Amino acid sequence: MSVTPPAEAAAAAAVEVLRRQDPELAEILLGEHHRQATTLQLSAAENFTSPAVLAALGSPLANKYAEGYPGARHHGGCEQADAAERLAVTRAKALFGAGHANVQPHSGSAAVLAAYAALLRPGDTVLALGLPDGGHLTHGSPAHLAGRLFRFVAYGVDAGSGLVDHDRMRALARAHLPRAIVCGSIAYPRHLDHAFFREVADEVGAYLVADAAHPIGLVAGGAAPNPVPYADVVCATTHKVLRGPRGGMILCGSELAGRIDRAVFPFTQGGAQMHTIAAKAVAFGEASTPAFAAYARQVVANARALAARLAAEGLAVTTGGTDTHLLTADPAPLGVDGRSARGLLAAAGLVLDCCALPGGGTGAASAGAAPAGAAPVGAAARGLRLGTAAVTTQGMGEAEMAAIGSLLARVLTGETGAARARGEARELAGAFPPYPG
Ligand SMILES: *Cc1c(COP(=O)(O)O)cnc(C)c1O
Repeated sequence: MSVTPPAEAAAAAAVEVLRRQDPELAEILLGEHHRQATTLQLSAAENFTSPAVLAALGSPLANKYAEGYPGARHHGGCEQADAAERLAVTRAKALFGAGHANVQPHSGSAAVLAAYAALLRPGDTVLALGLPDGGHLTHGSPAHLAGRLFRFVAYGVDAGSGLVDHDRMRALARAHLPRAIVCGSIAYPRHLDHAFFREVADEVGAYLVADAAHPIGLVAGGAAPNPVPYADVVCATTHKVLRGPRGGMILCGSELAGRIDRAVFPFTQGGAQMHTIAAKAVAFGEASTPAFAAYARQVVANARALAARLAAEGLAVTTGGTDTHLLTADPAPLGVDGRSARGLLAAAGLVLDCCALPGGGTGAASAGAAPAGAAPVGAAARGLRLGTAAVTTQGMGEAEMAAIGSLLARVLTGETGAARARGEARELAGAFPPYPG
């Protein structure tokens, strides 16, 4: 007796509608479904949203225009849109203990840009982690608008330990007197010391912006320290460990609420995406449950198990391990660089990203006033970045992490060929379907 769960039946019905009307596109979606279900998703930025989140994304709120904020919209008919946004805001504030939440940013980058717009004037100095050391494009890359508008100074990580160089960061803050300090990274595997950043920001009279795009889901589950009590503004995504829809969010105290809201709309964005905001509300609801706290703890336990296995297999794991959902490693001891490794692993059904590694940049990272994004994007992609958010959602545990670590190493050494490895990856993924039904 097999009973199809309602969510799965609804998804199947939706695909059926597409198949009848637009088989070409339906084929693409089925191909993506197949890819996600038969390979291992180890990208540190990805996850599997719940059927409830997907249902909100595919809801009639996708049709609604809602410029402005609840109770003050530029369009009629916003009663339900207002209710959805108020619910998302209330849940986000409660989840993170914030005085104010703006749930409209279309992405993590949009949230960071709006935070800058609220706090800074063009030409202001910003101290942020250099891109070769794990800073995001919004932290000073000349390829991003922010890098054009503001004068970024880069602090870095110690080339040996891989840890943030606190002394150097403090010295740079004293020397450059930035208007804002940004803490946050796309690849840092350890908890940041928010109290330290707050102390330096206070000392030099800077705003502290925490870009918690990666760890915010761990924060929600109580598995990572919360930046909200320390930072003036916290920027985040909702689609990484937090497991919600693709989007962004800003948290701050009530004194900055008006400036943040105006910086999001109308300064940097247009109409809010109400279906996504509804889906964010669903995700915040899920993230406030004991089940999500257990998930967050398991994500970290899995990342530690994966890091330990990769180290045992001979890869050089940055900082020797992880406190979070992500780890970075140099595959060079196995005779392969990051970029080639990513290709070999993709062919074997292990999907992950390349990244820069400490000490592997252009040197600009710790050179003081050099632009944070001096290295071209991906120029120093020596390393591999892996995360456990998605595979943990699938229900995998430490034993599976050991199996994945072993498979990864066997692929890189050539001990296991692509076809055979692909079969192993498919079998493991198949035993933990992301959307059982
Ligand atoms: C992922 C990430 C972002 C950007 O998120 P998008 O939704 O891709 O724009 C910004 N900052 C950091 C630190 C990130 O990890």
